[in-house]
Order: sequence, then C-alpha cells, then structure tokens
Amino acid sequence: MTQRSAETWYEATAPGREAQAAPRGVIAADVCVIGGGLAGLTTAMEVQRRGRIAVLLEAKRIAWGASGRNGGFVGNGFALGVEEIIERVGLRNAQALYRLSAHGTEYVRREVARLDQTIRMGDGIMVAQRTDDPLGARRRLDMMLRDFSEGLELLSTEQTRMLLQSERYFQSLKNPHSFLIHPIRYARAFADDAQHSGVMIHENSPALEVRKAKGGFVVRTAHAEIHAPHVVHCVSSLDRRINRTIGRAVLPIATYVAVTEPLEQDAIRTRCGVGDMRRAGDYYRLISDKRLLWGGRITTRVSEPARLAEMLKRDMLSVFPQLGDPRIDYAWSGLMGYALHKMPLIGRAVDGQWFATAFGGHGLNTTAMAGILMARAIADRDDEYRRFAPFAPKWAGGPFGRIGVQASYWHMQLRDALDERADRKKRAMRE
Ligand SMILES: Cc1cc2nc3c(=O)[nH]c(=O)nc-3n(C[C@H](O)[C@H](O)[C@H](O)COP(=O)(O)OP(=O)(O)OC[C@H]3O[C@@H](n4cnc5c(N)ncnc54)[C@H](O)[C@@H]3O)c2cc1C
Repeated sequence: MTQRSAETWYEATAPGREAQAAPRGVIAADVCVIGGGLAGLTTAMEVQRRGRIAVLLEAKRIAWGASGRNGGFVGNGFALGVEEIIERVGLRNAQALYRLSAHGTEYVRREVARLDQTIRMGDGIMVAQRTDDPLGARRRLDMMLRDFSEGLELLSTEQTRMLLQSERYFQSLKNPHSFLIHPIRYARAFADDAQHSGVMIHENSPALEVRKAKGGFVVRTAHAEIHAPHVVHCVSSLDRRINRTIGRAVLPIATYVAVTEPLEQDAIRTRCGVGDMRRAGDYYRLISDKRLLWGGRITTRVSEPARLAEMLKRDMLSVFPQLGDPRIDYAWSGLMGYALHKMPLIGRAVDGQWFATAFGGHGLNTTAMAGILMARAIADRDDEYRRFAPFAPKWAGGPFGRIGVQASYWHMQLRDALDERADRKKRAMRE
C-alpha cells in the first residue's frame, strides 16, 4: 500500500530517534505485536507493564503511518457517531463503549503529561455548525450530557464568529476536556519509554508471515523468527496480506493535511482545535510559529494528488478568504484503516490471533483504549474487549467496497452542500 513520505511539519519539529535494529535468529516472547503505530505501541507497553515479554515489529519507522501524520485532536468517541452506535447496539452498550473510549483519552492525557510537556499543544476542541440550527445544537448538548455525561459548552453564532471570523459558521459546541498533541513527539517518547520498560522494538522489520506452531505462533521476518503464544495485528490498512481475514475487512482511506507559513492573521482567534459538523468536514488549529494546520477530505485513491497543497488552500480560503494567499510549507497525506461499519476491529480470530485495528479518523484515544483491552485480555484473561463483538470483521468488498466508500463520501459532500444551500434560502426568506 503506498503512502507518500513527504516531510510533515511534525517530522520537521520532533527530536530524531535512532532506528532500532532488525531482529536476527530465533527470539521467544509472550506476545509479538505487528505494527509500530499507536495501537501496536500501546499494546506492547501494556503487555510489558503486566510482566509479559513483548516484541514489536515495525515495517518502517515508529509512527510512520497515520499515528505520526494525524491532526493531533484527542477526544472521546469513535469514528462512528454516537447516534449510529446507539442505533446498532442500543443506548446502554453505546454508553459502555463511549466510557471505554474516554479511558483511552485519559490514558493519552496521563502519558503525555508523564513523558514530555512539549507533546501537549493546546486544549479544547470546538465543532461549528455550517447551518443556522440553535435547537439542533442545544439538543446535541443535552443528549451528550444526559446520555454520555459529556459536558459540552454551547457557543452562539455571535460567540462562534468572535473566535472564528467566518460567515460560514453558526453555533458551535466546545469540548473543553479534549486536547491537542504533537503526534510524533508522543509516539517517539512513548516508544523510548516502552523500550526502557523492556519492550523489544525492531524497526525496518516487516513481519512477512505468521504460522501456527506448537504452543502458539511463529512470526517470520527477513532474518528472524519470533516464537510467541500470542500475536496481535496492529497494521491498520498498511498490509492487507499478513492476515487475510483482517486485511479484507479494513479499507485504506487517504486523507490530507497542510501547514501554512507563519501568518499574521486575525481570522482565527482561538488556539482550540476546530472542526465542523458536516458529514464530510474540515478541521484545523493554530500551531507554533503562528502557522495554521488544516486537514480534511477523504478519498479511496491512495496515491497523493499532484496539487495537494493548492487543493487544501482552496478549502481554507473558502472558509477564511481574508487569509489572502498564504504559502503552504508542508502538505502530506496519510492512510487510515476503516471497517465498513466505521468502528474499530478489536478481538480474537478463530485461530487465536488477536487484532486491534481500523480506528479510522478517530484513533488517538481509541488506539490507547484498544492497547489496554488487548493487554488485559492476554495477561489477565479479561474479556471486556468482547464489547466490540457486534463490530466483527467482515469483508469490506475489495475494490467494490472502495468504490462504495468513495461514492458515499461524494454523496455526503453533496448532502452537506444541499443542506447549506437550503439553510441559506431559508434565512434569505426570513430576512
Ligand atoms: C491525516 C490524518 C489525520 C488524522 N487526524 C486524527 C485526529 O486528529 N484525531 C484522531 O483521534 N485520529 C486522527 N487520525 C486517525 C489516527 O491517526 C489513526 O486512527 C491511528 O493513528 C491509527 O493507528 P494504528 O496504530 O492503528 O495505525 P498506523 O499508525 O497506521 O500504524 C500501522 C503500522 O503498521 C506498520 N506495518 C504495516 N505492515 C506491517 C508488517 N507487515 N509488519 C510490521 N509492521 C507493519 C506500518 O508501517 C505502520 O507504522 C488521523 C489520521 C490521518 C491519516
């Protein structure tokens, strides 16, 4: 699977980290974790914290995938919205899942504070409406408090536009408990700490094959065999062959980020993370040096578009034309893994191999949650991971699945645009 390795702003502003040597010979462990993104790292760390020996294999470098390229927004919940989760599993199960996702957020908050003060870059995430719907915003605020004990703050259109000078926005909901991080600083500091705790990390070491053996599994790399009773797959959509059942259930979805030159601007007056409530929305935040980090768009086309920077700049200027013509200093893509139901795949296959993957665009808290669930299951025989049983891996439809996802994204964009047009008409008639 391709993922361009254009330098990200994160890479340019993180301390370097020496690559850990590939394994050689035969190595025995309790758990072999495949994939060195945040899902794999957290699983390996939590296994080790429970007194088991963990080996982690990363095909390239730690956090080379989505874990080192994301927006850095950390907050409760999943890629699938709470309303849809309730529809699928009922309110009580949805509440239990939401609580687990909140444990993930708390875990990251704690680890970030413990590891390095420079990882945390800001507090609060606000989500703005692009249609004028004060009652809708109030209903959501009430529902999140009543059903999920989530205390959001409602900002009127006037308050929202004080912070975000754009006529595109109306009311917004702010979650003051969410926060913002520098993802590569986090992943690298976490990997260093895991290694000091005893996790054997090997980079540039793709797992090539997993086969069943007496007492567990053998994971083969170019020059080594890892023998372990437990194997955990955390490769997201970046290797769909190492475990075909899981690979077939995870769709690669690309998404993009751009970072501007330092800006003298007055359009964005908050250091919160900002998103919008459209089905296919943008997100952004001010980062150090007065730069603006802007993310958005999803596509099933995994090769990077030639005019990525221009494309994201157009999106930016459609909300804040007053930014003029900012230079884009960095633009990159990242691949996420999505199951068709948009919930993570967490569990154990019939042959005994574990999987923790498909976190979609909401992976910073949920990878932490999954790592804890995996380690508890393996080391303590805890079965809370079974809460994800209703979201079992299913074939995502191969190329047809990708076409379906792309079509549904375009459909969402169209519905967003129609909603905004209808709202404009309604307001014009009122005036
Ligand atoms: C642009 C972008 C913005 C995002 N913004 C946010 C955000 O603001 N907030 C949020 O919560 N989430 C966000 N996400 C989602 C989040 O980043 C992901 O859900 C999360 O990082 C997934 O972690 P992971 O460990 O499952 O996968 P990855 O980080 O992709 O890691 C998988 C790893 O497996 C390795 N691998 C693959 N094959 C093998 C093999 N055979 N052997 C060994 N290793 C292998 C890969 O090299 C890779 O390092 C964003 C994602 C992207 C791409």
